[in-house]
Order: sequence, then C-alpha cells, then structure tokens
Amino acid sequence: MDYLPFTRPTLDEATIADVGDVLRSGWITSGPKVKQFEAALSEYFGGRPVRVLNSATGGMEVALRLIGIQAGDEVITTPLSWVATGNVVLNAGAKPVFVDVDPHTRNIDLDRIEAAITPRTKAIMPVDLAGLPVDRDRLNDIAARHGLRVIEDAAQSMGSTWRGRRIGSFGDLISISFHANKNLTTTEGGCLVLRDESEIPLFEKLRLQGVVRSPDGGMDVDVTGGKYNMTDVAAVIGLHQLKHIEAFNAQRKALARHYFAKLDRTLGLGLPVEDFENSNWHMFQLTLPLDSLRISRGEFIQIMHARGIGIGVHYPAMHLFTLYRGLGWKEGDYPHAEKIGRETVTLPLFPRMSEADVERVCQNIHEVLSANMR
Ligand SMILES: *Cc1c(COP(=O)(O)O)cnc(C)c1O
Repeated sequence: MDYLPFTRPTLDEATIADVGDVLRSGWITSGPKVKQFEAALSEYFGGRPVRVLNSATGGMEVALRLIGIQAGDEVITTPLSWVATGNVVLNAGAKPVFVDVDPHTRNIDLDRIEAAITPRTKAIMPVDLAGLPVDRDRLNDIAARHGLRVIEDAAQSMGSTWRGRRIGSFGDLISISFHANKNLTTTEGGCLVLRDESEIPLFEKLRLQGVVRSPDGGMDVDVTGGKYNMTDVAAVIGLHQLKHIEAFNAQRKALARHYFAKLDRTLGLGLPVEDFENSNWHMFQLTLPLDSLRISRGEFIQIMHARGIGIGVHYPAMHLFTLYRGLGWKEGDYPHAEKIGRETVTLPLFPRMSEADVERVCQNIHEVLSANMR
C-alpha cells in the first residue's frame, strides 16, 4: 500500500501550467502576479488591506516593527506553537511572555492573559493551533481594554472563521502562512492583513530594504527594511490555491468528522475539540495515553511509519528548547503546554485523502496501541 504522509500539497495541472507561463514571461520576481494575488486576498478578507511576503515568519517580523516594538517590550503569546512565534519576538529584541494553554483547546488560556500584562506589554500574539481559532471576541476585548496591539499568528488559520466571520476579515494585524504544509500554499510565503490603509507605506518600506520610489524615477531610504518580498512564481500558485481553498477546507472537515466516527474511543486518546463551525482543520491532533503504554511516542511514530503511515509532532513546548532554557525558562513553567507537547501526535489529513485512508489510520492506531498497553 502507498505510504500515507501526514500532509501533502494539492497542486493541479492548471497551476503547474501557469507557473510555466510566469517562468517564460521573463518577469519572475515580485510583479503583476503579486499585485493580483494581493487584490484577490483583500477581496477574500472582506476588503481589508493585505500584503504578501516570502514567509509568515517574515510577516510577523515586519508586523512587530510596524507597531514599534523595541528592546525591553513584552509580547504575550503561547508556548505551544511553531518556534517562529517566540523567535520573532526575541529577534525584535523584545521578550516573549508565555501564558499556558487551555488543555481543552490547546490554545492560549484567555483567563490567564490579564495576569501576565505589565506596563511593558505592547502586544498579544495568539496562535490558532491546528486552525482552531482563539475566541476573538474575548481576545480583542482584552486587548482593547489594555490598549494593546494584536498580531494574530493565524499561520494555520487560512479559511477558519470565528462566529461566522472569516479570520483575517476583522481584528488588528493578521499573519497567515502559505508554507508547503498549510491549507493554502505558495511553496513558501505568507500574508499580513493590515489594520488600515495608513499602515501600507511603512509596511512596504519594511518589506523591501526601506526603499521608497517616486514617480520621476527617484528613490530614497529612511528606515532599514528587510528582504521579505514574494515572487510572481509563488503568487501565481497562490492565485490558483485561493480558488480552491473553500473546497480544500470542506474536504478536510469531512475527513476530520470521519476520524471522530472511526477512532477507537476506548484507548484513552485525547481528542481535539469537535468544532465543525470555526476550524479549517489544518491538523488533526491526538494526545497519546503515554502513562498506560509500554511504548514511547517516538516508538509509536516509528511503528506507524513502518506500517506506511506518516505521523507528525506539532509541537514540543517551545520554552523547553535549549535557547529558551538558556534565557531562564524551565520545566514546570507551563504544565499544560508541556504535557500536550510530550503527548501530541498529528495524524494524516489533507484534501486528497480518502475516507478509506482515515479508516486505515484508525485501524492501525487501534492495533498498535491495544498491542502495547501496560
Ligand atoms: C507555519 C507557522 C509559522 C511560520 O510560517 P512560515 O510561513 O513558515 O514562516 C508561524 N507560526 C505558526 C503557528 C505556524 O504554523
């Protein structure tokens, strides 16, 4: 049987043909396709101003500069995310202030945010793990009451909604990733939804070397920008993906429902929130009942791999990485994130999977876990 990876991009022949056209056109870096993609994204996000970049990490770096984050400032975020979330704050010279997660949603615990706010807090960076949105009503209310900016690390949330409104169509700054594994991909890439039009000029300078061009061909630089622009090769892929994103996410949702129907609930697995309203089902994640198993998570992953099934880990709690331990964080700081970080596994989920694939994964989980109970 074919190896089933935990994810795989869905790229059709029309996309590949258009990539060929861009390559043949002679204009392969940022150009007309980037402009078209930005306009299409802006429409998708209800008319909000949107700019694309070569990664969402870059988008968050630019967002932090855009809101004036400086050395000594604090940014509140979750320790249970891709390490980019913490790294961008450190790279800005600021301090990530982690708040433990709610073990049910696996997202930042909104009840604990206010206790973490200090006079140095400038922003909150929530993460929608697996595409399950943080409660935007409560989050934006906390931010407004304390005068904080919000940079949504909505890297995984393309097409997710909050109470009927699309993530990215409301709120402050929203960063979304188009990395190869995300629900919409441009190979690598991302976009930042800006708060309003007034932020566009500074954003564009920060995105590309601080350069401002005047209509007469003149050029000036007054801030140190970076190198974050997206290519037309990537943008044309994004234009195609955007046409299919709703269908991709509908298929993910149907497969997620099938997982809930077919997983053996007697094994002690920790299931994700059964949300079929807001989530884009970027990932389907379980926690393993390690205390009742004779095998480790690593062994489980190896056995599943040998059975032709790819299992991912997203993510170990980031404050326990060497870099963060060196900055003072330690085991015990965020017990919920640590426990989930130790136990979590990501099952295969991508639009071209079939219900039979889901059943094969569930059957193998059943066999492997029941054979290895203490
Ligand atoms: C993928 C991801 C990022 C980074 O996105 P890139 O486009 O790879 O830079 C940041 N945060 C989270 C939560 C992610 O999943």
